[in-house]
Amino acid sequence: MSNYTTQMDAARKGIVTPEMETVAKKENMPVEQLMKLVGEGKVAICANKHHKCLSAEGVGSMLRTKINVNLGISRDCKDYDIEMKKVMSAVELGAEAIMDLSSHGNTQPFRQKLTSECPVMIGTVPIYDSVIHYQRDLATLTAKDFIDVVRLHAEDGVDFVTLHCGITRKTIDQIKNHKRKMNIVSRGGSLVFAWMCMTGEENPFYEYYDEILDICEEHDVTISLGDACRPGCLADATDVCQIEELVRLGELTKRAWAHNVQVMVEGPGHVPLDQVAANMQVQKQICQGAPFYVLGPLVTDIAPGYDHITAAIGGAVAAMSGAAFLCYVTPAEHLALPNVDDVKQGIIASKIAAHAADIAKGVPGARDIDDKMADARRVLDWDAQYACALDPETAKAIRDSRKPEDDHSDTCSMCGKFCAVRSMNKALSGEYIDIL
Ligand code: SF4
Repeated sequence: MSNYTTQMDAARKGIVTPEMETVAKKENMPVEQLMKLVGEGKVAICANKHHKCLSAEGVGSMLRTKINVNLGISRDCKDYDIEMKKVMSAVELGAEAIMDLSSHGNTQPFRQKLTSECPVMIGTVPIYDSVIHYQRDLATLTAKDFIDVVRLHAEDGVDFVTLHCGITRKTIDQIKNHKRKMNIVSRGGSLVFAWMCMTGEENPFYEYYDEILDICEEHDVTISLGDACRPGCLADATDVCQIEELVRLGELTKRAWAHNVQVMVEGPGHVPLDQVAANMQVQKQICQGAPFYVLGPLVTDIAPGYDHITAAIGGAVAAMSGAAFLCYVTPAEHLALPNVDDVKQGIIASKIAAHAADIAKGVPGARDIDDKMADARRVLDWDAQYACALDPETAKAIRDSRKPEDDHSDTCSMCGKFCAVRSMNKALSGEYIDIL
């Protein structure tokens, strides 16, 4: 019988857990320093007690920026093996979390497979699963039904759950009066909103928050406070609906911490680049430094097909300005279910954003790999360059498909004999440079 409930409880009692030791080692941080941050809620170690194969990670702005990949079974992609392959390749590419957004069939076996085989943090959105789990229309579900699904996910070993606790009946009037361009674009948020409209009742995730906190405390599930009113277009960014919900999320953060339950706060959304840093600062103030988990932010609305890039631009600035966790966006965003290649493109774009931010915010050792790459480039050592690359396979395939015509194979076909690197190496070592 352990003498603590959650990682936060342990930290507050001065107990170093095995998960804290793992995270401290990964982050090159003294465990005492990490423990203090966990106790204060500034770092969340999302580690459900039943997720035995987890290699714990910490989420907090003073740590390496983490990325999440959304996957799951759906009506249009219901092959469990293919989805599991996507999960494992996402882990190999460097994802620190997988959110299982399954929305078809019996979702429990896949969820349990994830928490018994997958070493990264597993998150879910219980409201998506509620309709599927009960096989009943949304309006017929009761508050108790929703809470029971949260409990089921907690018992299945899910490390964090997105719960849209921050909208209330007041939000219904606000959305109607405020006339946003895109209303609510959060899938879970729209379901909660629709349920409130159809039943006339209060948001169950808000009304029964204390009961949810008991469940999360028992299993050590981190609550990812969903942002139902995240802007779905630039015109809605940083508006009353978004900020009003954020204020409530700040209050709910405090209540969770009083219960020793760890919290992350989800963030925007579509945000103009010049508002991204301000959004992070406001969140930090209102939610007392709780880790911020951003969905993008997408910095323009006009790039369907390339939204992994618009999200990476926003994500880099967000993470540099205080966000701790980036949810990947794929080129298929706003268009279709991502295929295997879209997933890869989304992960790489997110990894670039996270890594760029870690260098900018001075995470110790973050730039080491870039320095190694520069050394490999200076000596035109291609294998060493691939070894440093985020996506070695693509880098090698591009070079191999377009090698220089002549046998100066130490250069590449970009400049051929005009290779600046080769010319400089030769010039500095006193060699003759043959260009023609
Ligand atoms: S040929 Fe040009 S691009 Fe290629 S390695 Fe040399 S300097 Fe770099």
